[in-house]
Amino acid sequence: MSTATASPLTPTPSPQLSPQARALITELQSKGLRLQDPGAGLPSRRGGAGPSDHKAVTIDGHTVMIPVHTEPAFNSPFVAEAPGADGRSTLKHASIPIAQIEFPRTPRFYALHTADGVPYSHIATLHGRDVLATTVLQTCIRYESRKKTCQFCAIGQSLAAGRTIAHKTPAQLAEVAKAAVELDGVKHMVLTTGTPATPDRGAAILVDSVRAIRAAVSIPIQVQCEPPDDDAWFERLREAGADTIGMHLEAVSPEVRERIMPGKASVPLSRYFSAFEAAVKVFGRGQVSTYILAGLGDSREAILDIGQRLLDIGVYPFVVPFVPISGTPLEGHPAPDPAFMRSVLQPLGEMVAAAHMRSTDIKAGCGKCGACSSLSVYESGEGHEGSASALSAVLTSAAALTA
Ligand code: SF4
Repeated sequence: MSTATASPLTPTPSPQLSPQARALITELQSKGLRLQDPGAGLPSRRGGAGPSDHKAVTIDGHTVMIPVHTEPAFNSPFVAEAPGADGRSTLKHASIPIAQIEFPRTPRFYALHTADGVPYSHIATLHGRDVLATTVLQTCIRYESRKKTCQFCAIGQSLAAGRTIAHKTPAQLAEVAKAAVELDGVKHMVLTTGTPATPDRGAAILVDSVRAIRAAVSIPIQVQCEPPDDDAWFERLREAGADTIGMHLEAVSPEVRERIMPGKASVPLSRYFSAFEAAVKVFGRGQVSTYILAGLGDSREAILDIGQRLLDIGVYPFVVPFVPISGTPLEGHPAPDPAFMRSVLQPLGEMVAAAHMRSTDIKAGCGKCGACSSLSVYESGEGHEGSASALSAVLTSAAALTA
């Protein structure tokens, strides 16, 4: 395997965004994007343990995940042409060109296979601009029963379609992580997992995986799992080399939790909060996070209330718009309205800033990546008119068109 270091990802720091660009990203993440050639040889996410059916798109220098394979996306007013060889394309709203956008090129490590013939892309994938992500266990006790499954989750779909393998070994993960760093310049890594039938909820598998990866390559790592039975796992994960941890609430109100994720709702919110507090003691303030899917029925007030409770104990509340994934029980559920997302993300961004827990201070993981939600662009009071780029004038028309 080559060890060339040139990166096709051209990672650049995310610039401050104008209010118009921020509004456009929120609109796109809710309504999705129709691609004139959805294949187009571009890396995208279909299936997996979290929100999926996205494609990474760079808008005004900021890389975000936009739904492209979902029902709302097929009816979206936003359309993009298949990109040229340089990855660039024109974004149109109702056939009117409104912006130039860019799609990341296929990562170089996708062309490689393990010695036993497994494509590297079946072991881990590129997320956003510079994140390597994997679902270590592609099976889950919650997914095996129609009654218990999380209604939004597609963890079994990519496995059934042959796009991944059921259990990525520590050695495989280490091999792919090393290649992704050396060939594509990825900057941090996310290890999530389906929940096994063991009381540690997957923490033991994550410990082994992180240890192997850190022995092979220096890369900040976030682990994600349900709260384990014993808080001692947080120390073990930290000692193995994990930098941050995510334990994902997904929904916050008892009624919504019970309806949307009847199996996972058996773990009470009180256990999540005791686990958060124990994890913050190990990983530090702002290095523990949770993922909350807005648009499943939780009110704005419920999300903001729990967001404040989380911030008070040092947990970053990563609120993302729910994306209805094809093939899941919620594929026909509407995506959240952009106005609802703005009504949550604007005050939440201010709350995050007031708590001094901005995404830029997170060492690794979803909150740092920020591609699945525009939360981070609401965190710094960005969008003063003086920071508007040349694109903003065009995006002003887009915001007017979509109002
Ligand atoms: S926010 Fe998390 S799930 Fe979304 S693209 Fe980034 S690493 Fe992947």
